[in-house]
Formats: sequence, structure tokens, C-alpha cells
Amino acid sequence: MSIALISTGSELLRGATANTHCGFLGRELLAHGGKLALEMSVGDAANDISFALSCALRSCDQIVVTGGLGPTDDDLTLESVAFFFGVELLLSDELKEKVVGCWRQRHTGHCPKKQLKQALVPVNAKIIPNEAGVASGFVFETLYDHKMRRIFLLPGPPREFEPMAKNFVVPMLMERETTLTTTLGFLAADVAESTLDKMLGNALKAFPVEVGDTTSAEGTKLFVSGEKAAVEEAIAVAQKIVGNAALPVGETRLFDYVGKLLMDQKLSLAVAESCTGGLVAKKFTDLAGISASFLGGVVSYSNELKKELLGVPDEILSRCGAVSSECCRAMVEGVCRTAHADCGIATTGIAGPGGGTPEKPVGLVYIGAKAGDLCEIEELHLHGSRDAIRERAAAKACNLLRTLILKAK
Ligand code: ATP
Ligand code: MG
Repeated sequence: MSIALISTGSELLRGATANTHCGFLGRELLAHGGKLALEMSVGDAANDISFALSCALRSCDQIVVTGGLGPTDDDLTLESVAFFFGVELLLSDELKEKVVGCWRQRHTGHCPKKQLKQALVPVNAKIIPNEAGVASGFVFETLYDHKMRRIFLLPGPPREFEPMAKNFVVPMLMERETTLTTTLGFLAADVAESTLDKMLGNALKAFPVEVGDTTSAEGTKLFVSGEKAAVEEAIAVAQKIVGNAALPVGETRLFDYVGKLLMDQKLSLAVAESCTGGLVAKKFTDLAGISASFLGGVVSYSNELKKELLGVPDEILSRCGAVSSECCRAMVEGVCRTAHADCGIATTGIAGPGGGTPEKPVGLVYIGAKAGDLCEIEELHLHGSRDAIRERAAAKACNLLRTLILKAK
């Protein structure tokens, strides 16, 4: 039973609103062993909705249509879907009561007729309650091209769509999924996509699984999907090949993983950042509960602050400069000393686009990490935009700390 999602709303096509429904439903289904076979976004036009339905129905038996269930003239989904399948719409007394009640809570005077559009229900549809808004959702079964199909209609606002999808729609969709898929993944930290591809070679080819990857500043995430036993075997093989660069299975985010590592081992962390301007601190503090480990950080952009707050010696700054291995080491040691931290991270470099010299070009970054007595500095030569260089520097510094914590253990 393949599942399709049709998201309606001209704002999605204009790029004014990012389509978050696809990601949400995809992740929810994945967590339950299902998957989306198809997603289409269409504008608020009856013809486009019909076209999307006829395409999706070629290969899918369960179709979730979102958006356009409101009372305004551009909300056409319910009429369009009902017309497409030849299903009648009836006024529901139960929904009329809700619509009128909601209107009275917010306005004075009579509830306009237009609002009652939200009290229409396709014949034989089940109502999916919406606790967060006026428009109800619906599910109905209908014969199309000699096969029974199940059609879900859900409102567009994510705060309404998400709980309805999670609590009602996903369990119903999963009842009809005959083959369950297991998906496992992990991050190969600081490993490029092509490198991972070369490392794995043909090792996973013999397994009856689907292998996919996505790459980011943190490295490459490898995902393996298929039948549970085969997936577990294949992912174990991949972990062995990737070795120390592999995060444990299920860990696909570097900062989350290192944050958990710090908390589990009751290690404290302080950071001293120059070219990353607080990005490392931001990424750690995105993690709930990190206050148990993360003490704080210094964004020491100027030489004065490097000296005053981190104790970087004048002599290092004048002899080697702020963008140097020596300065980076003094920064990470200084912040650990000042904050009484077990672990530290430091970054100093030239993120560009200006500021480079032949000796110290744009992209030259020093990262440092300290875990207990172990302290290492790395010289990086990064490419890309200012943002890309900062993202890469932050991720590589975090990964350097990860390797030191594992070594120190
Ligand atoms: P309403 O009663 O609010 O009109 P509705 O079911 O008609 O409900 P829409 O008008 O389609 O919903 O959308 C309402 C809001 O939800 C809009 O702000 C829209 O941008 C947002 N929205 C709709 N679809 C999506 C989507 N796929 N992803 C993210 N946001 C969406
Ligand atoms: Mg709309």
C-alpha cells in the first residue's frame, strides 16, 4: 500500500512558506517502519489538485491531502477532492456547532454563511478531530480504477496538521503497510561523501538493502533501509569499515553526540572562539540539558580580549599572529584554565571573503581541542563562502574534541 502526500497552497510554490508537512510525515512514517512513496505540492486551483490526485493514484492507495480546508475562497481542497471522486458533501450538525461556537468565541454577530463551509463532510467520511483549529480533517474510502483507495484530508497550519497526522493518520496509514522497513543510520564524522563511497566499495552490495547518504559540514550520514536483520548486518559491516570516524548507530548529529558524551562522562566544556564567532557555543547550547556540561565561551575576536580573558601571551601574538597554531593552543588552554573546564575548544582563522594574505590565505583556520591532559591543534585549509568555512571549522573542532575524549578514556 503506497502512500502519497499532496500539499496544497500557492504560498508553497511561491517559496513564501517552506513545506514542512513532507518532512514531518516522512519522519513519522519512518519511525514506524513506513515510508512516503511520493510527494507533490500544488497551488490553490481545482485543476491542479485533480491533476495531482490522478498522478498519485497511479501508484498509491493511500493519499494524504493537506491545506485549503479553511473558509476563504482560495480554500478549495474539500470541494475539489469531493468533485474528483464524485463524493457528495453534507452539512454536519456536529461540525456546524463547532464552527458556530468557534466564531462566537472570537466575534460578535451572526456566523457568516461562508464559515459553514467548514461544517461540510464527505459522505461516509470519518471526522478527524482538530484540537488546535476550526477546520476538521476527514478520511474516506472510495473505489478508483477498480481498487479501494483511502483519502485523508488535513488542514494546512503545521500546529494543526502535525498532531492530527501523528495521532490519527500515521497509525491508520501503518495498519495497511504490509512490508515494514527498518532504517538505521550513523554519521561518518569528517568523512566526505566520495571518501565514504570509496571506503565502503562493494561491501554493502551483497545485502538486500537500500543504501543512501547525505553530506554536511559534519561529515556524511549513511542510511541503510530494508528488512530488519539485513539492515542490522549491513550497518554493522559499515561501522567496522568506517572505524573511529563512525558515530554509534542512531547518532547522526555530531554536536548532539559530543554533548551527550560530555554529559555521560560528567565532563565540563568551555570554548574560545575567534573566526567562528560563537557558532560552536550556539551549536552546543542548542542541546537541551547541556548546562550540566557546557560552562560557557569567549568570543575573543580582538587581540586585547585574547590577552585579557584567555591569557594569550603578547609574545605569541606579536611573533606568530592571532591566526597561528601557537595562539590557538594558548586560547584553548586559557579558556580551560579560566573556566576550570575539563575540556575545551578553540578556533582562530580567516573566514574571508577579505583579510587573506599570501602567507595566511582565506580559509586558513586553526582549531584546537583539549580533553584532560590531551591537547591537539590542527591546521585547516578550507574552501567556500564565509559561512561554509565557519561551519566546517566548528564541526571539525567538535570532531577533534570527540576523538580526544575517546582517546582519553
Ligand atoms: P485555515 O483555516 O488556516 O485557512 P487551511 O486548512 O485552509 O486552514 P491553509 O490555508 O492551506 O490551511 O494554510 C494555513 C497556513 O498553513 C498557511 O500559513 C500556510 O502557509 C501553512 N501551510 C499550509 N501548508 C503547509 C505546508 N505544507 N507546510 C508548512 N506550512 C503550511
Ligand atoms: Mg490555503
